[in-house]
Amino acid sequence: MTYLAVPIAAKDLDQARGQIKAALAAGAEILELRTDYLENLTPDLVKKLITEAGNAAEQSLPVIVTCRDQKQGGVRPYPEQLRIEILTEAVRNGCDFIDCEYDNFLSTGVQEKIKAALAESSKTRLILSAHDFKSRFEDINRLYRDILKVCPTAIPKLVYTPNHINDCFEAFDLLHNTSGNSIVFCMGAAGLVSRTIAKKLGSFVTFASINAEAATAPGQLTIEQLKGLYRYDSIDAGTELFGVIANPVGHSLSPAIHNACFADEGMNKLYLPLLVEGGREEFDEFLDNVLAREWLDFKGFSVTIPHKQNALSFVKAKDGFIEPLADKIGAVNTLIIGTDGKLAAYNTDYAAALDAITSTMGITRADLKDLPVAIIGAGGVARAIVAGLSDVGTGIKIYNRTVEKAEKLAAEFNCDFAPLSDLSNVEAKLLINCTSIGMHPNIDAAPFPQEGLKKDMVVFDTVYNPAETLLLKQAKEAGAKTIDGIVMFVNQALAQFKLFAGTDGNAELMRKTISNCLSGQ
Ligand code: NAP
Repeated sequence: MTYLAVPIAAKDLDQARGQIKAALAAGAEILELRTDYLENLTPDLVKKLITEAGNAAEQSLPVIVTCRDQKQGGVRPYPEQLRIEILTEAVRNGCDFIDCEYDNFLSTGVQEKIKAALAESSKTRLILSAHDFKSRFEDINRLYRDILKVCPTAIPKLVYTPNHINDCFEAFDLLHNTSGNSIVFCMGAAGLVSRTIAKKLGSFVTFASINAEAATAPGQLTIEQLKGLYRYDSIDAGTELFGVIANPVGHSLSPAIHNACFADEGMNKLYLPLLVEGGREEFDEFLDNVLAREWLDFKGFSVTIPHKQNALSFVKAKDGFIEPLADKIGAVNTLIIGTDGKLAAYNTDYAAALDAITSTMGITRADLKDLPVAIIGAGGVARAIVAGLSDVGTGIKIYNRTVEKAEKLAAEFNCDFAPLSDLSNVEAKLLINCTSIGMHPNIDAAPFPQEGLKKDMVVFDTVYNPAETLLLKQAKEAGAKTIDGIVMFVNQALAQFKLFAGTDGNAELMRKTISNCLSGQ
């Protein structure tokens, strides 16, 4: 059983009352009373706080009392003697757990007082904690053993800051390889996924805050994010994991849409944002870490900037299956780990774009033959779309800010190229923006001169945030047919969902989820 603990980090009893109410309403399973946040701290104040927590719920929730040392993230500079008094008072008042820093517990005076208080209680358990706000522990396994050597009945709590997502795997290993109660997870952006995976691997507790302002540690998710976006209530030991490998990843809408569809289908699957910083080496290390741990149940990934080519190289090196088209495009946006541990690589962008075009124009792919097309941009999306359109025989001209990149892409797919300044002379029937121009927050920019937009054109903007870019607004005003980036985004996600889940995803739910996410930004 993993408890969802919510820190109550209030400066006085009034504020604490409000936080306790909010935590209970949001679904807290344990309250952590962070008494180091209280002003004018006294044992009597803590006694009152414990009473408040006990009275707040119809069925009283377990309570952890913590009075964190400033050296390990505490808020106020309360002296050790007072901090220990607070913990022993908490034991006397029947709280369920007290949390003491392991380093401090090693001091004879502290240990004697806490052990003496615990000896008088049949209820309270001791959590011995260690935090590293800068990096990994020197040896997390030794630390875990040392804690249990000093106090075999304690619950070790080991929380550290990974400098890279690859540093999280030792936390997963510790949870996987030990059977007693322990609390193990990682802080910060690189450690975010550990807060959900902790439940799958049976960490005794994982923490979430009532809102972003009330977070008591870097990277702590809100209860709403954990329960809503990350399907906390349905995570168990059998949950299969998926995710988007990217850098940056925070803006990605993929976790929201895939999790919404997994929930819709009642599937025991969870989709995570996987921040993989660095280049090929770090990407390879991440996938090697995943493949070495079958018990993590990672089954598939979306892959995006900057790792689409790294994904292709990795699967080639592992002798996995590569969809011929992905090989031709030179980029992979979907990875599947088969039951035999073998990798398969796909690119769903190409078909997503072609289908967006043909469905809006009411034509087949064959009808696209010889259609004059102008592509603005020569990056990753342009590459997938150029590959797709050249496959069906359209007449492509690529316009790009860096002309050499347009020239290189054009040479690869046997088409024309030109600088952006030539856009005023475009004769195309289909115009596709594959640059980030017009994307949030720079929504007042457009990649194409307004006067060049014609009624007989189809204008496709791959930018999906906002759904209606300035380019599309201007195209509509000119009477042109338009295709927004969401159509392509949903198409590529539906194809990925089919590969992940073996069944069709709910396109309407994806669209609604995207629209909710974009309107809430
Ligand atoms: P990318 O590989 O980084 O390529 C970016 C392209 O935009 C390059 O051609 C770049 O020109 C050009 N560019 C960027 N800023 C510019 C500026 N200020 N002026 C002129 N050109 C500029 O990125 P990508 O993966 O192709 O993604 C491009 C856009 O596609 C994204 O921003 C996103 O909105 C959209 N997208 C949509 C979907 C979908 O499913 N709908 C999926 C992925 C991406 P240089 O070569 O000169 O740098």
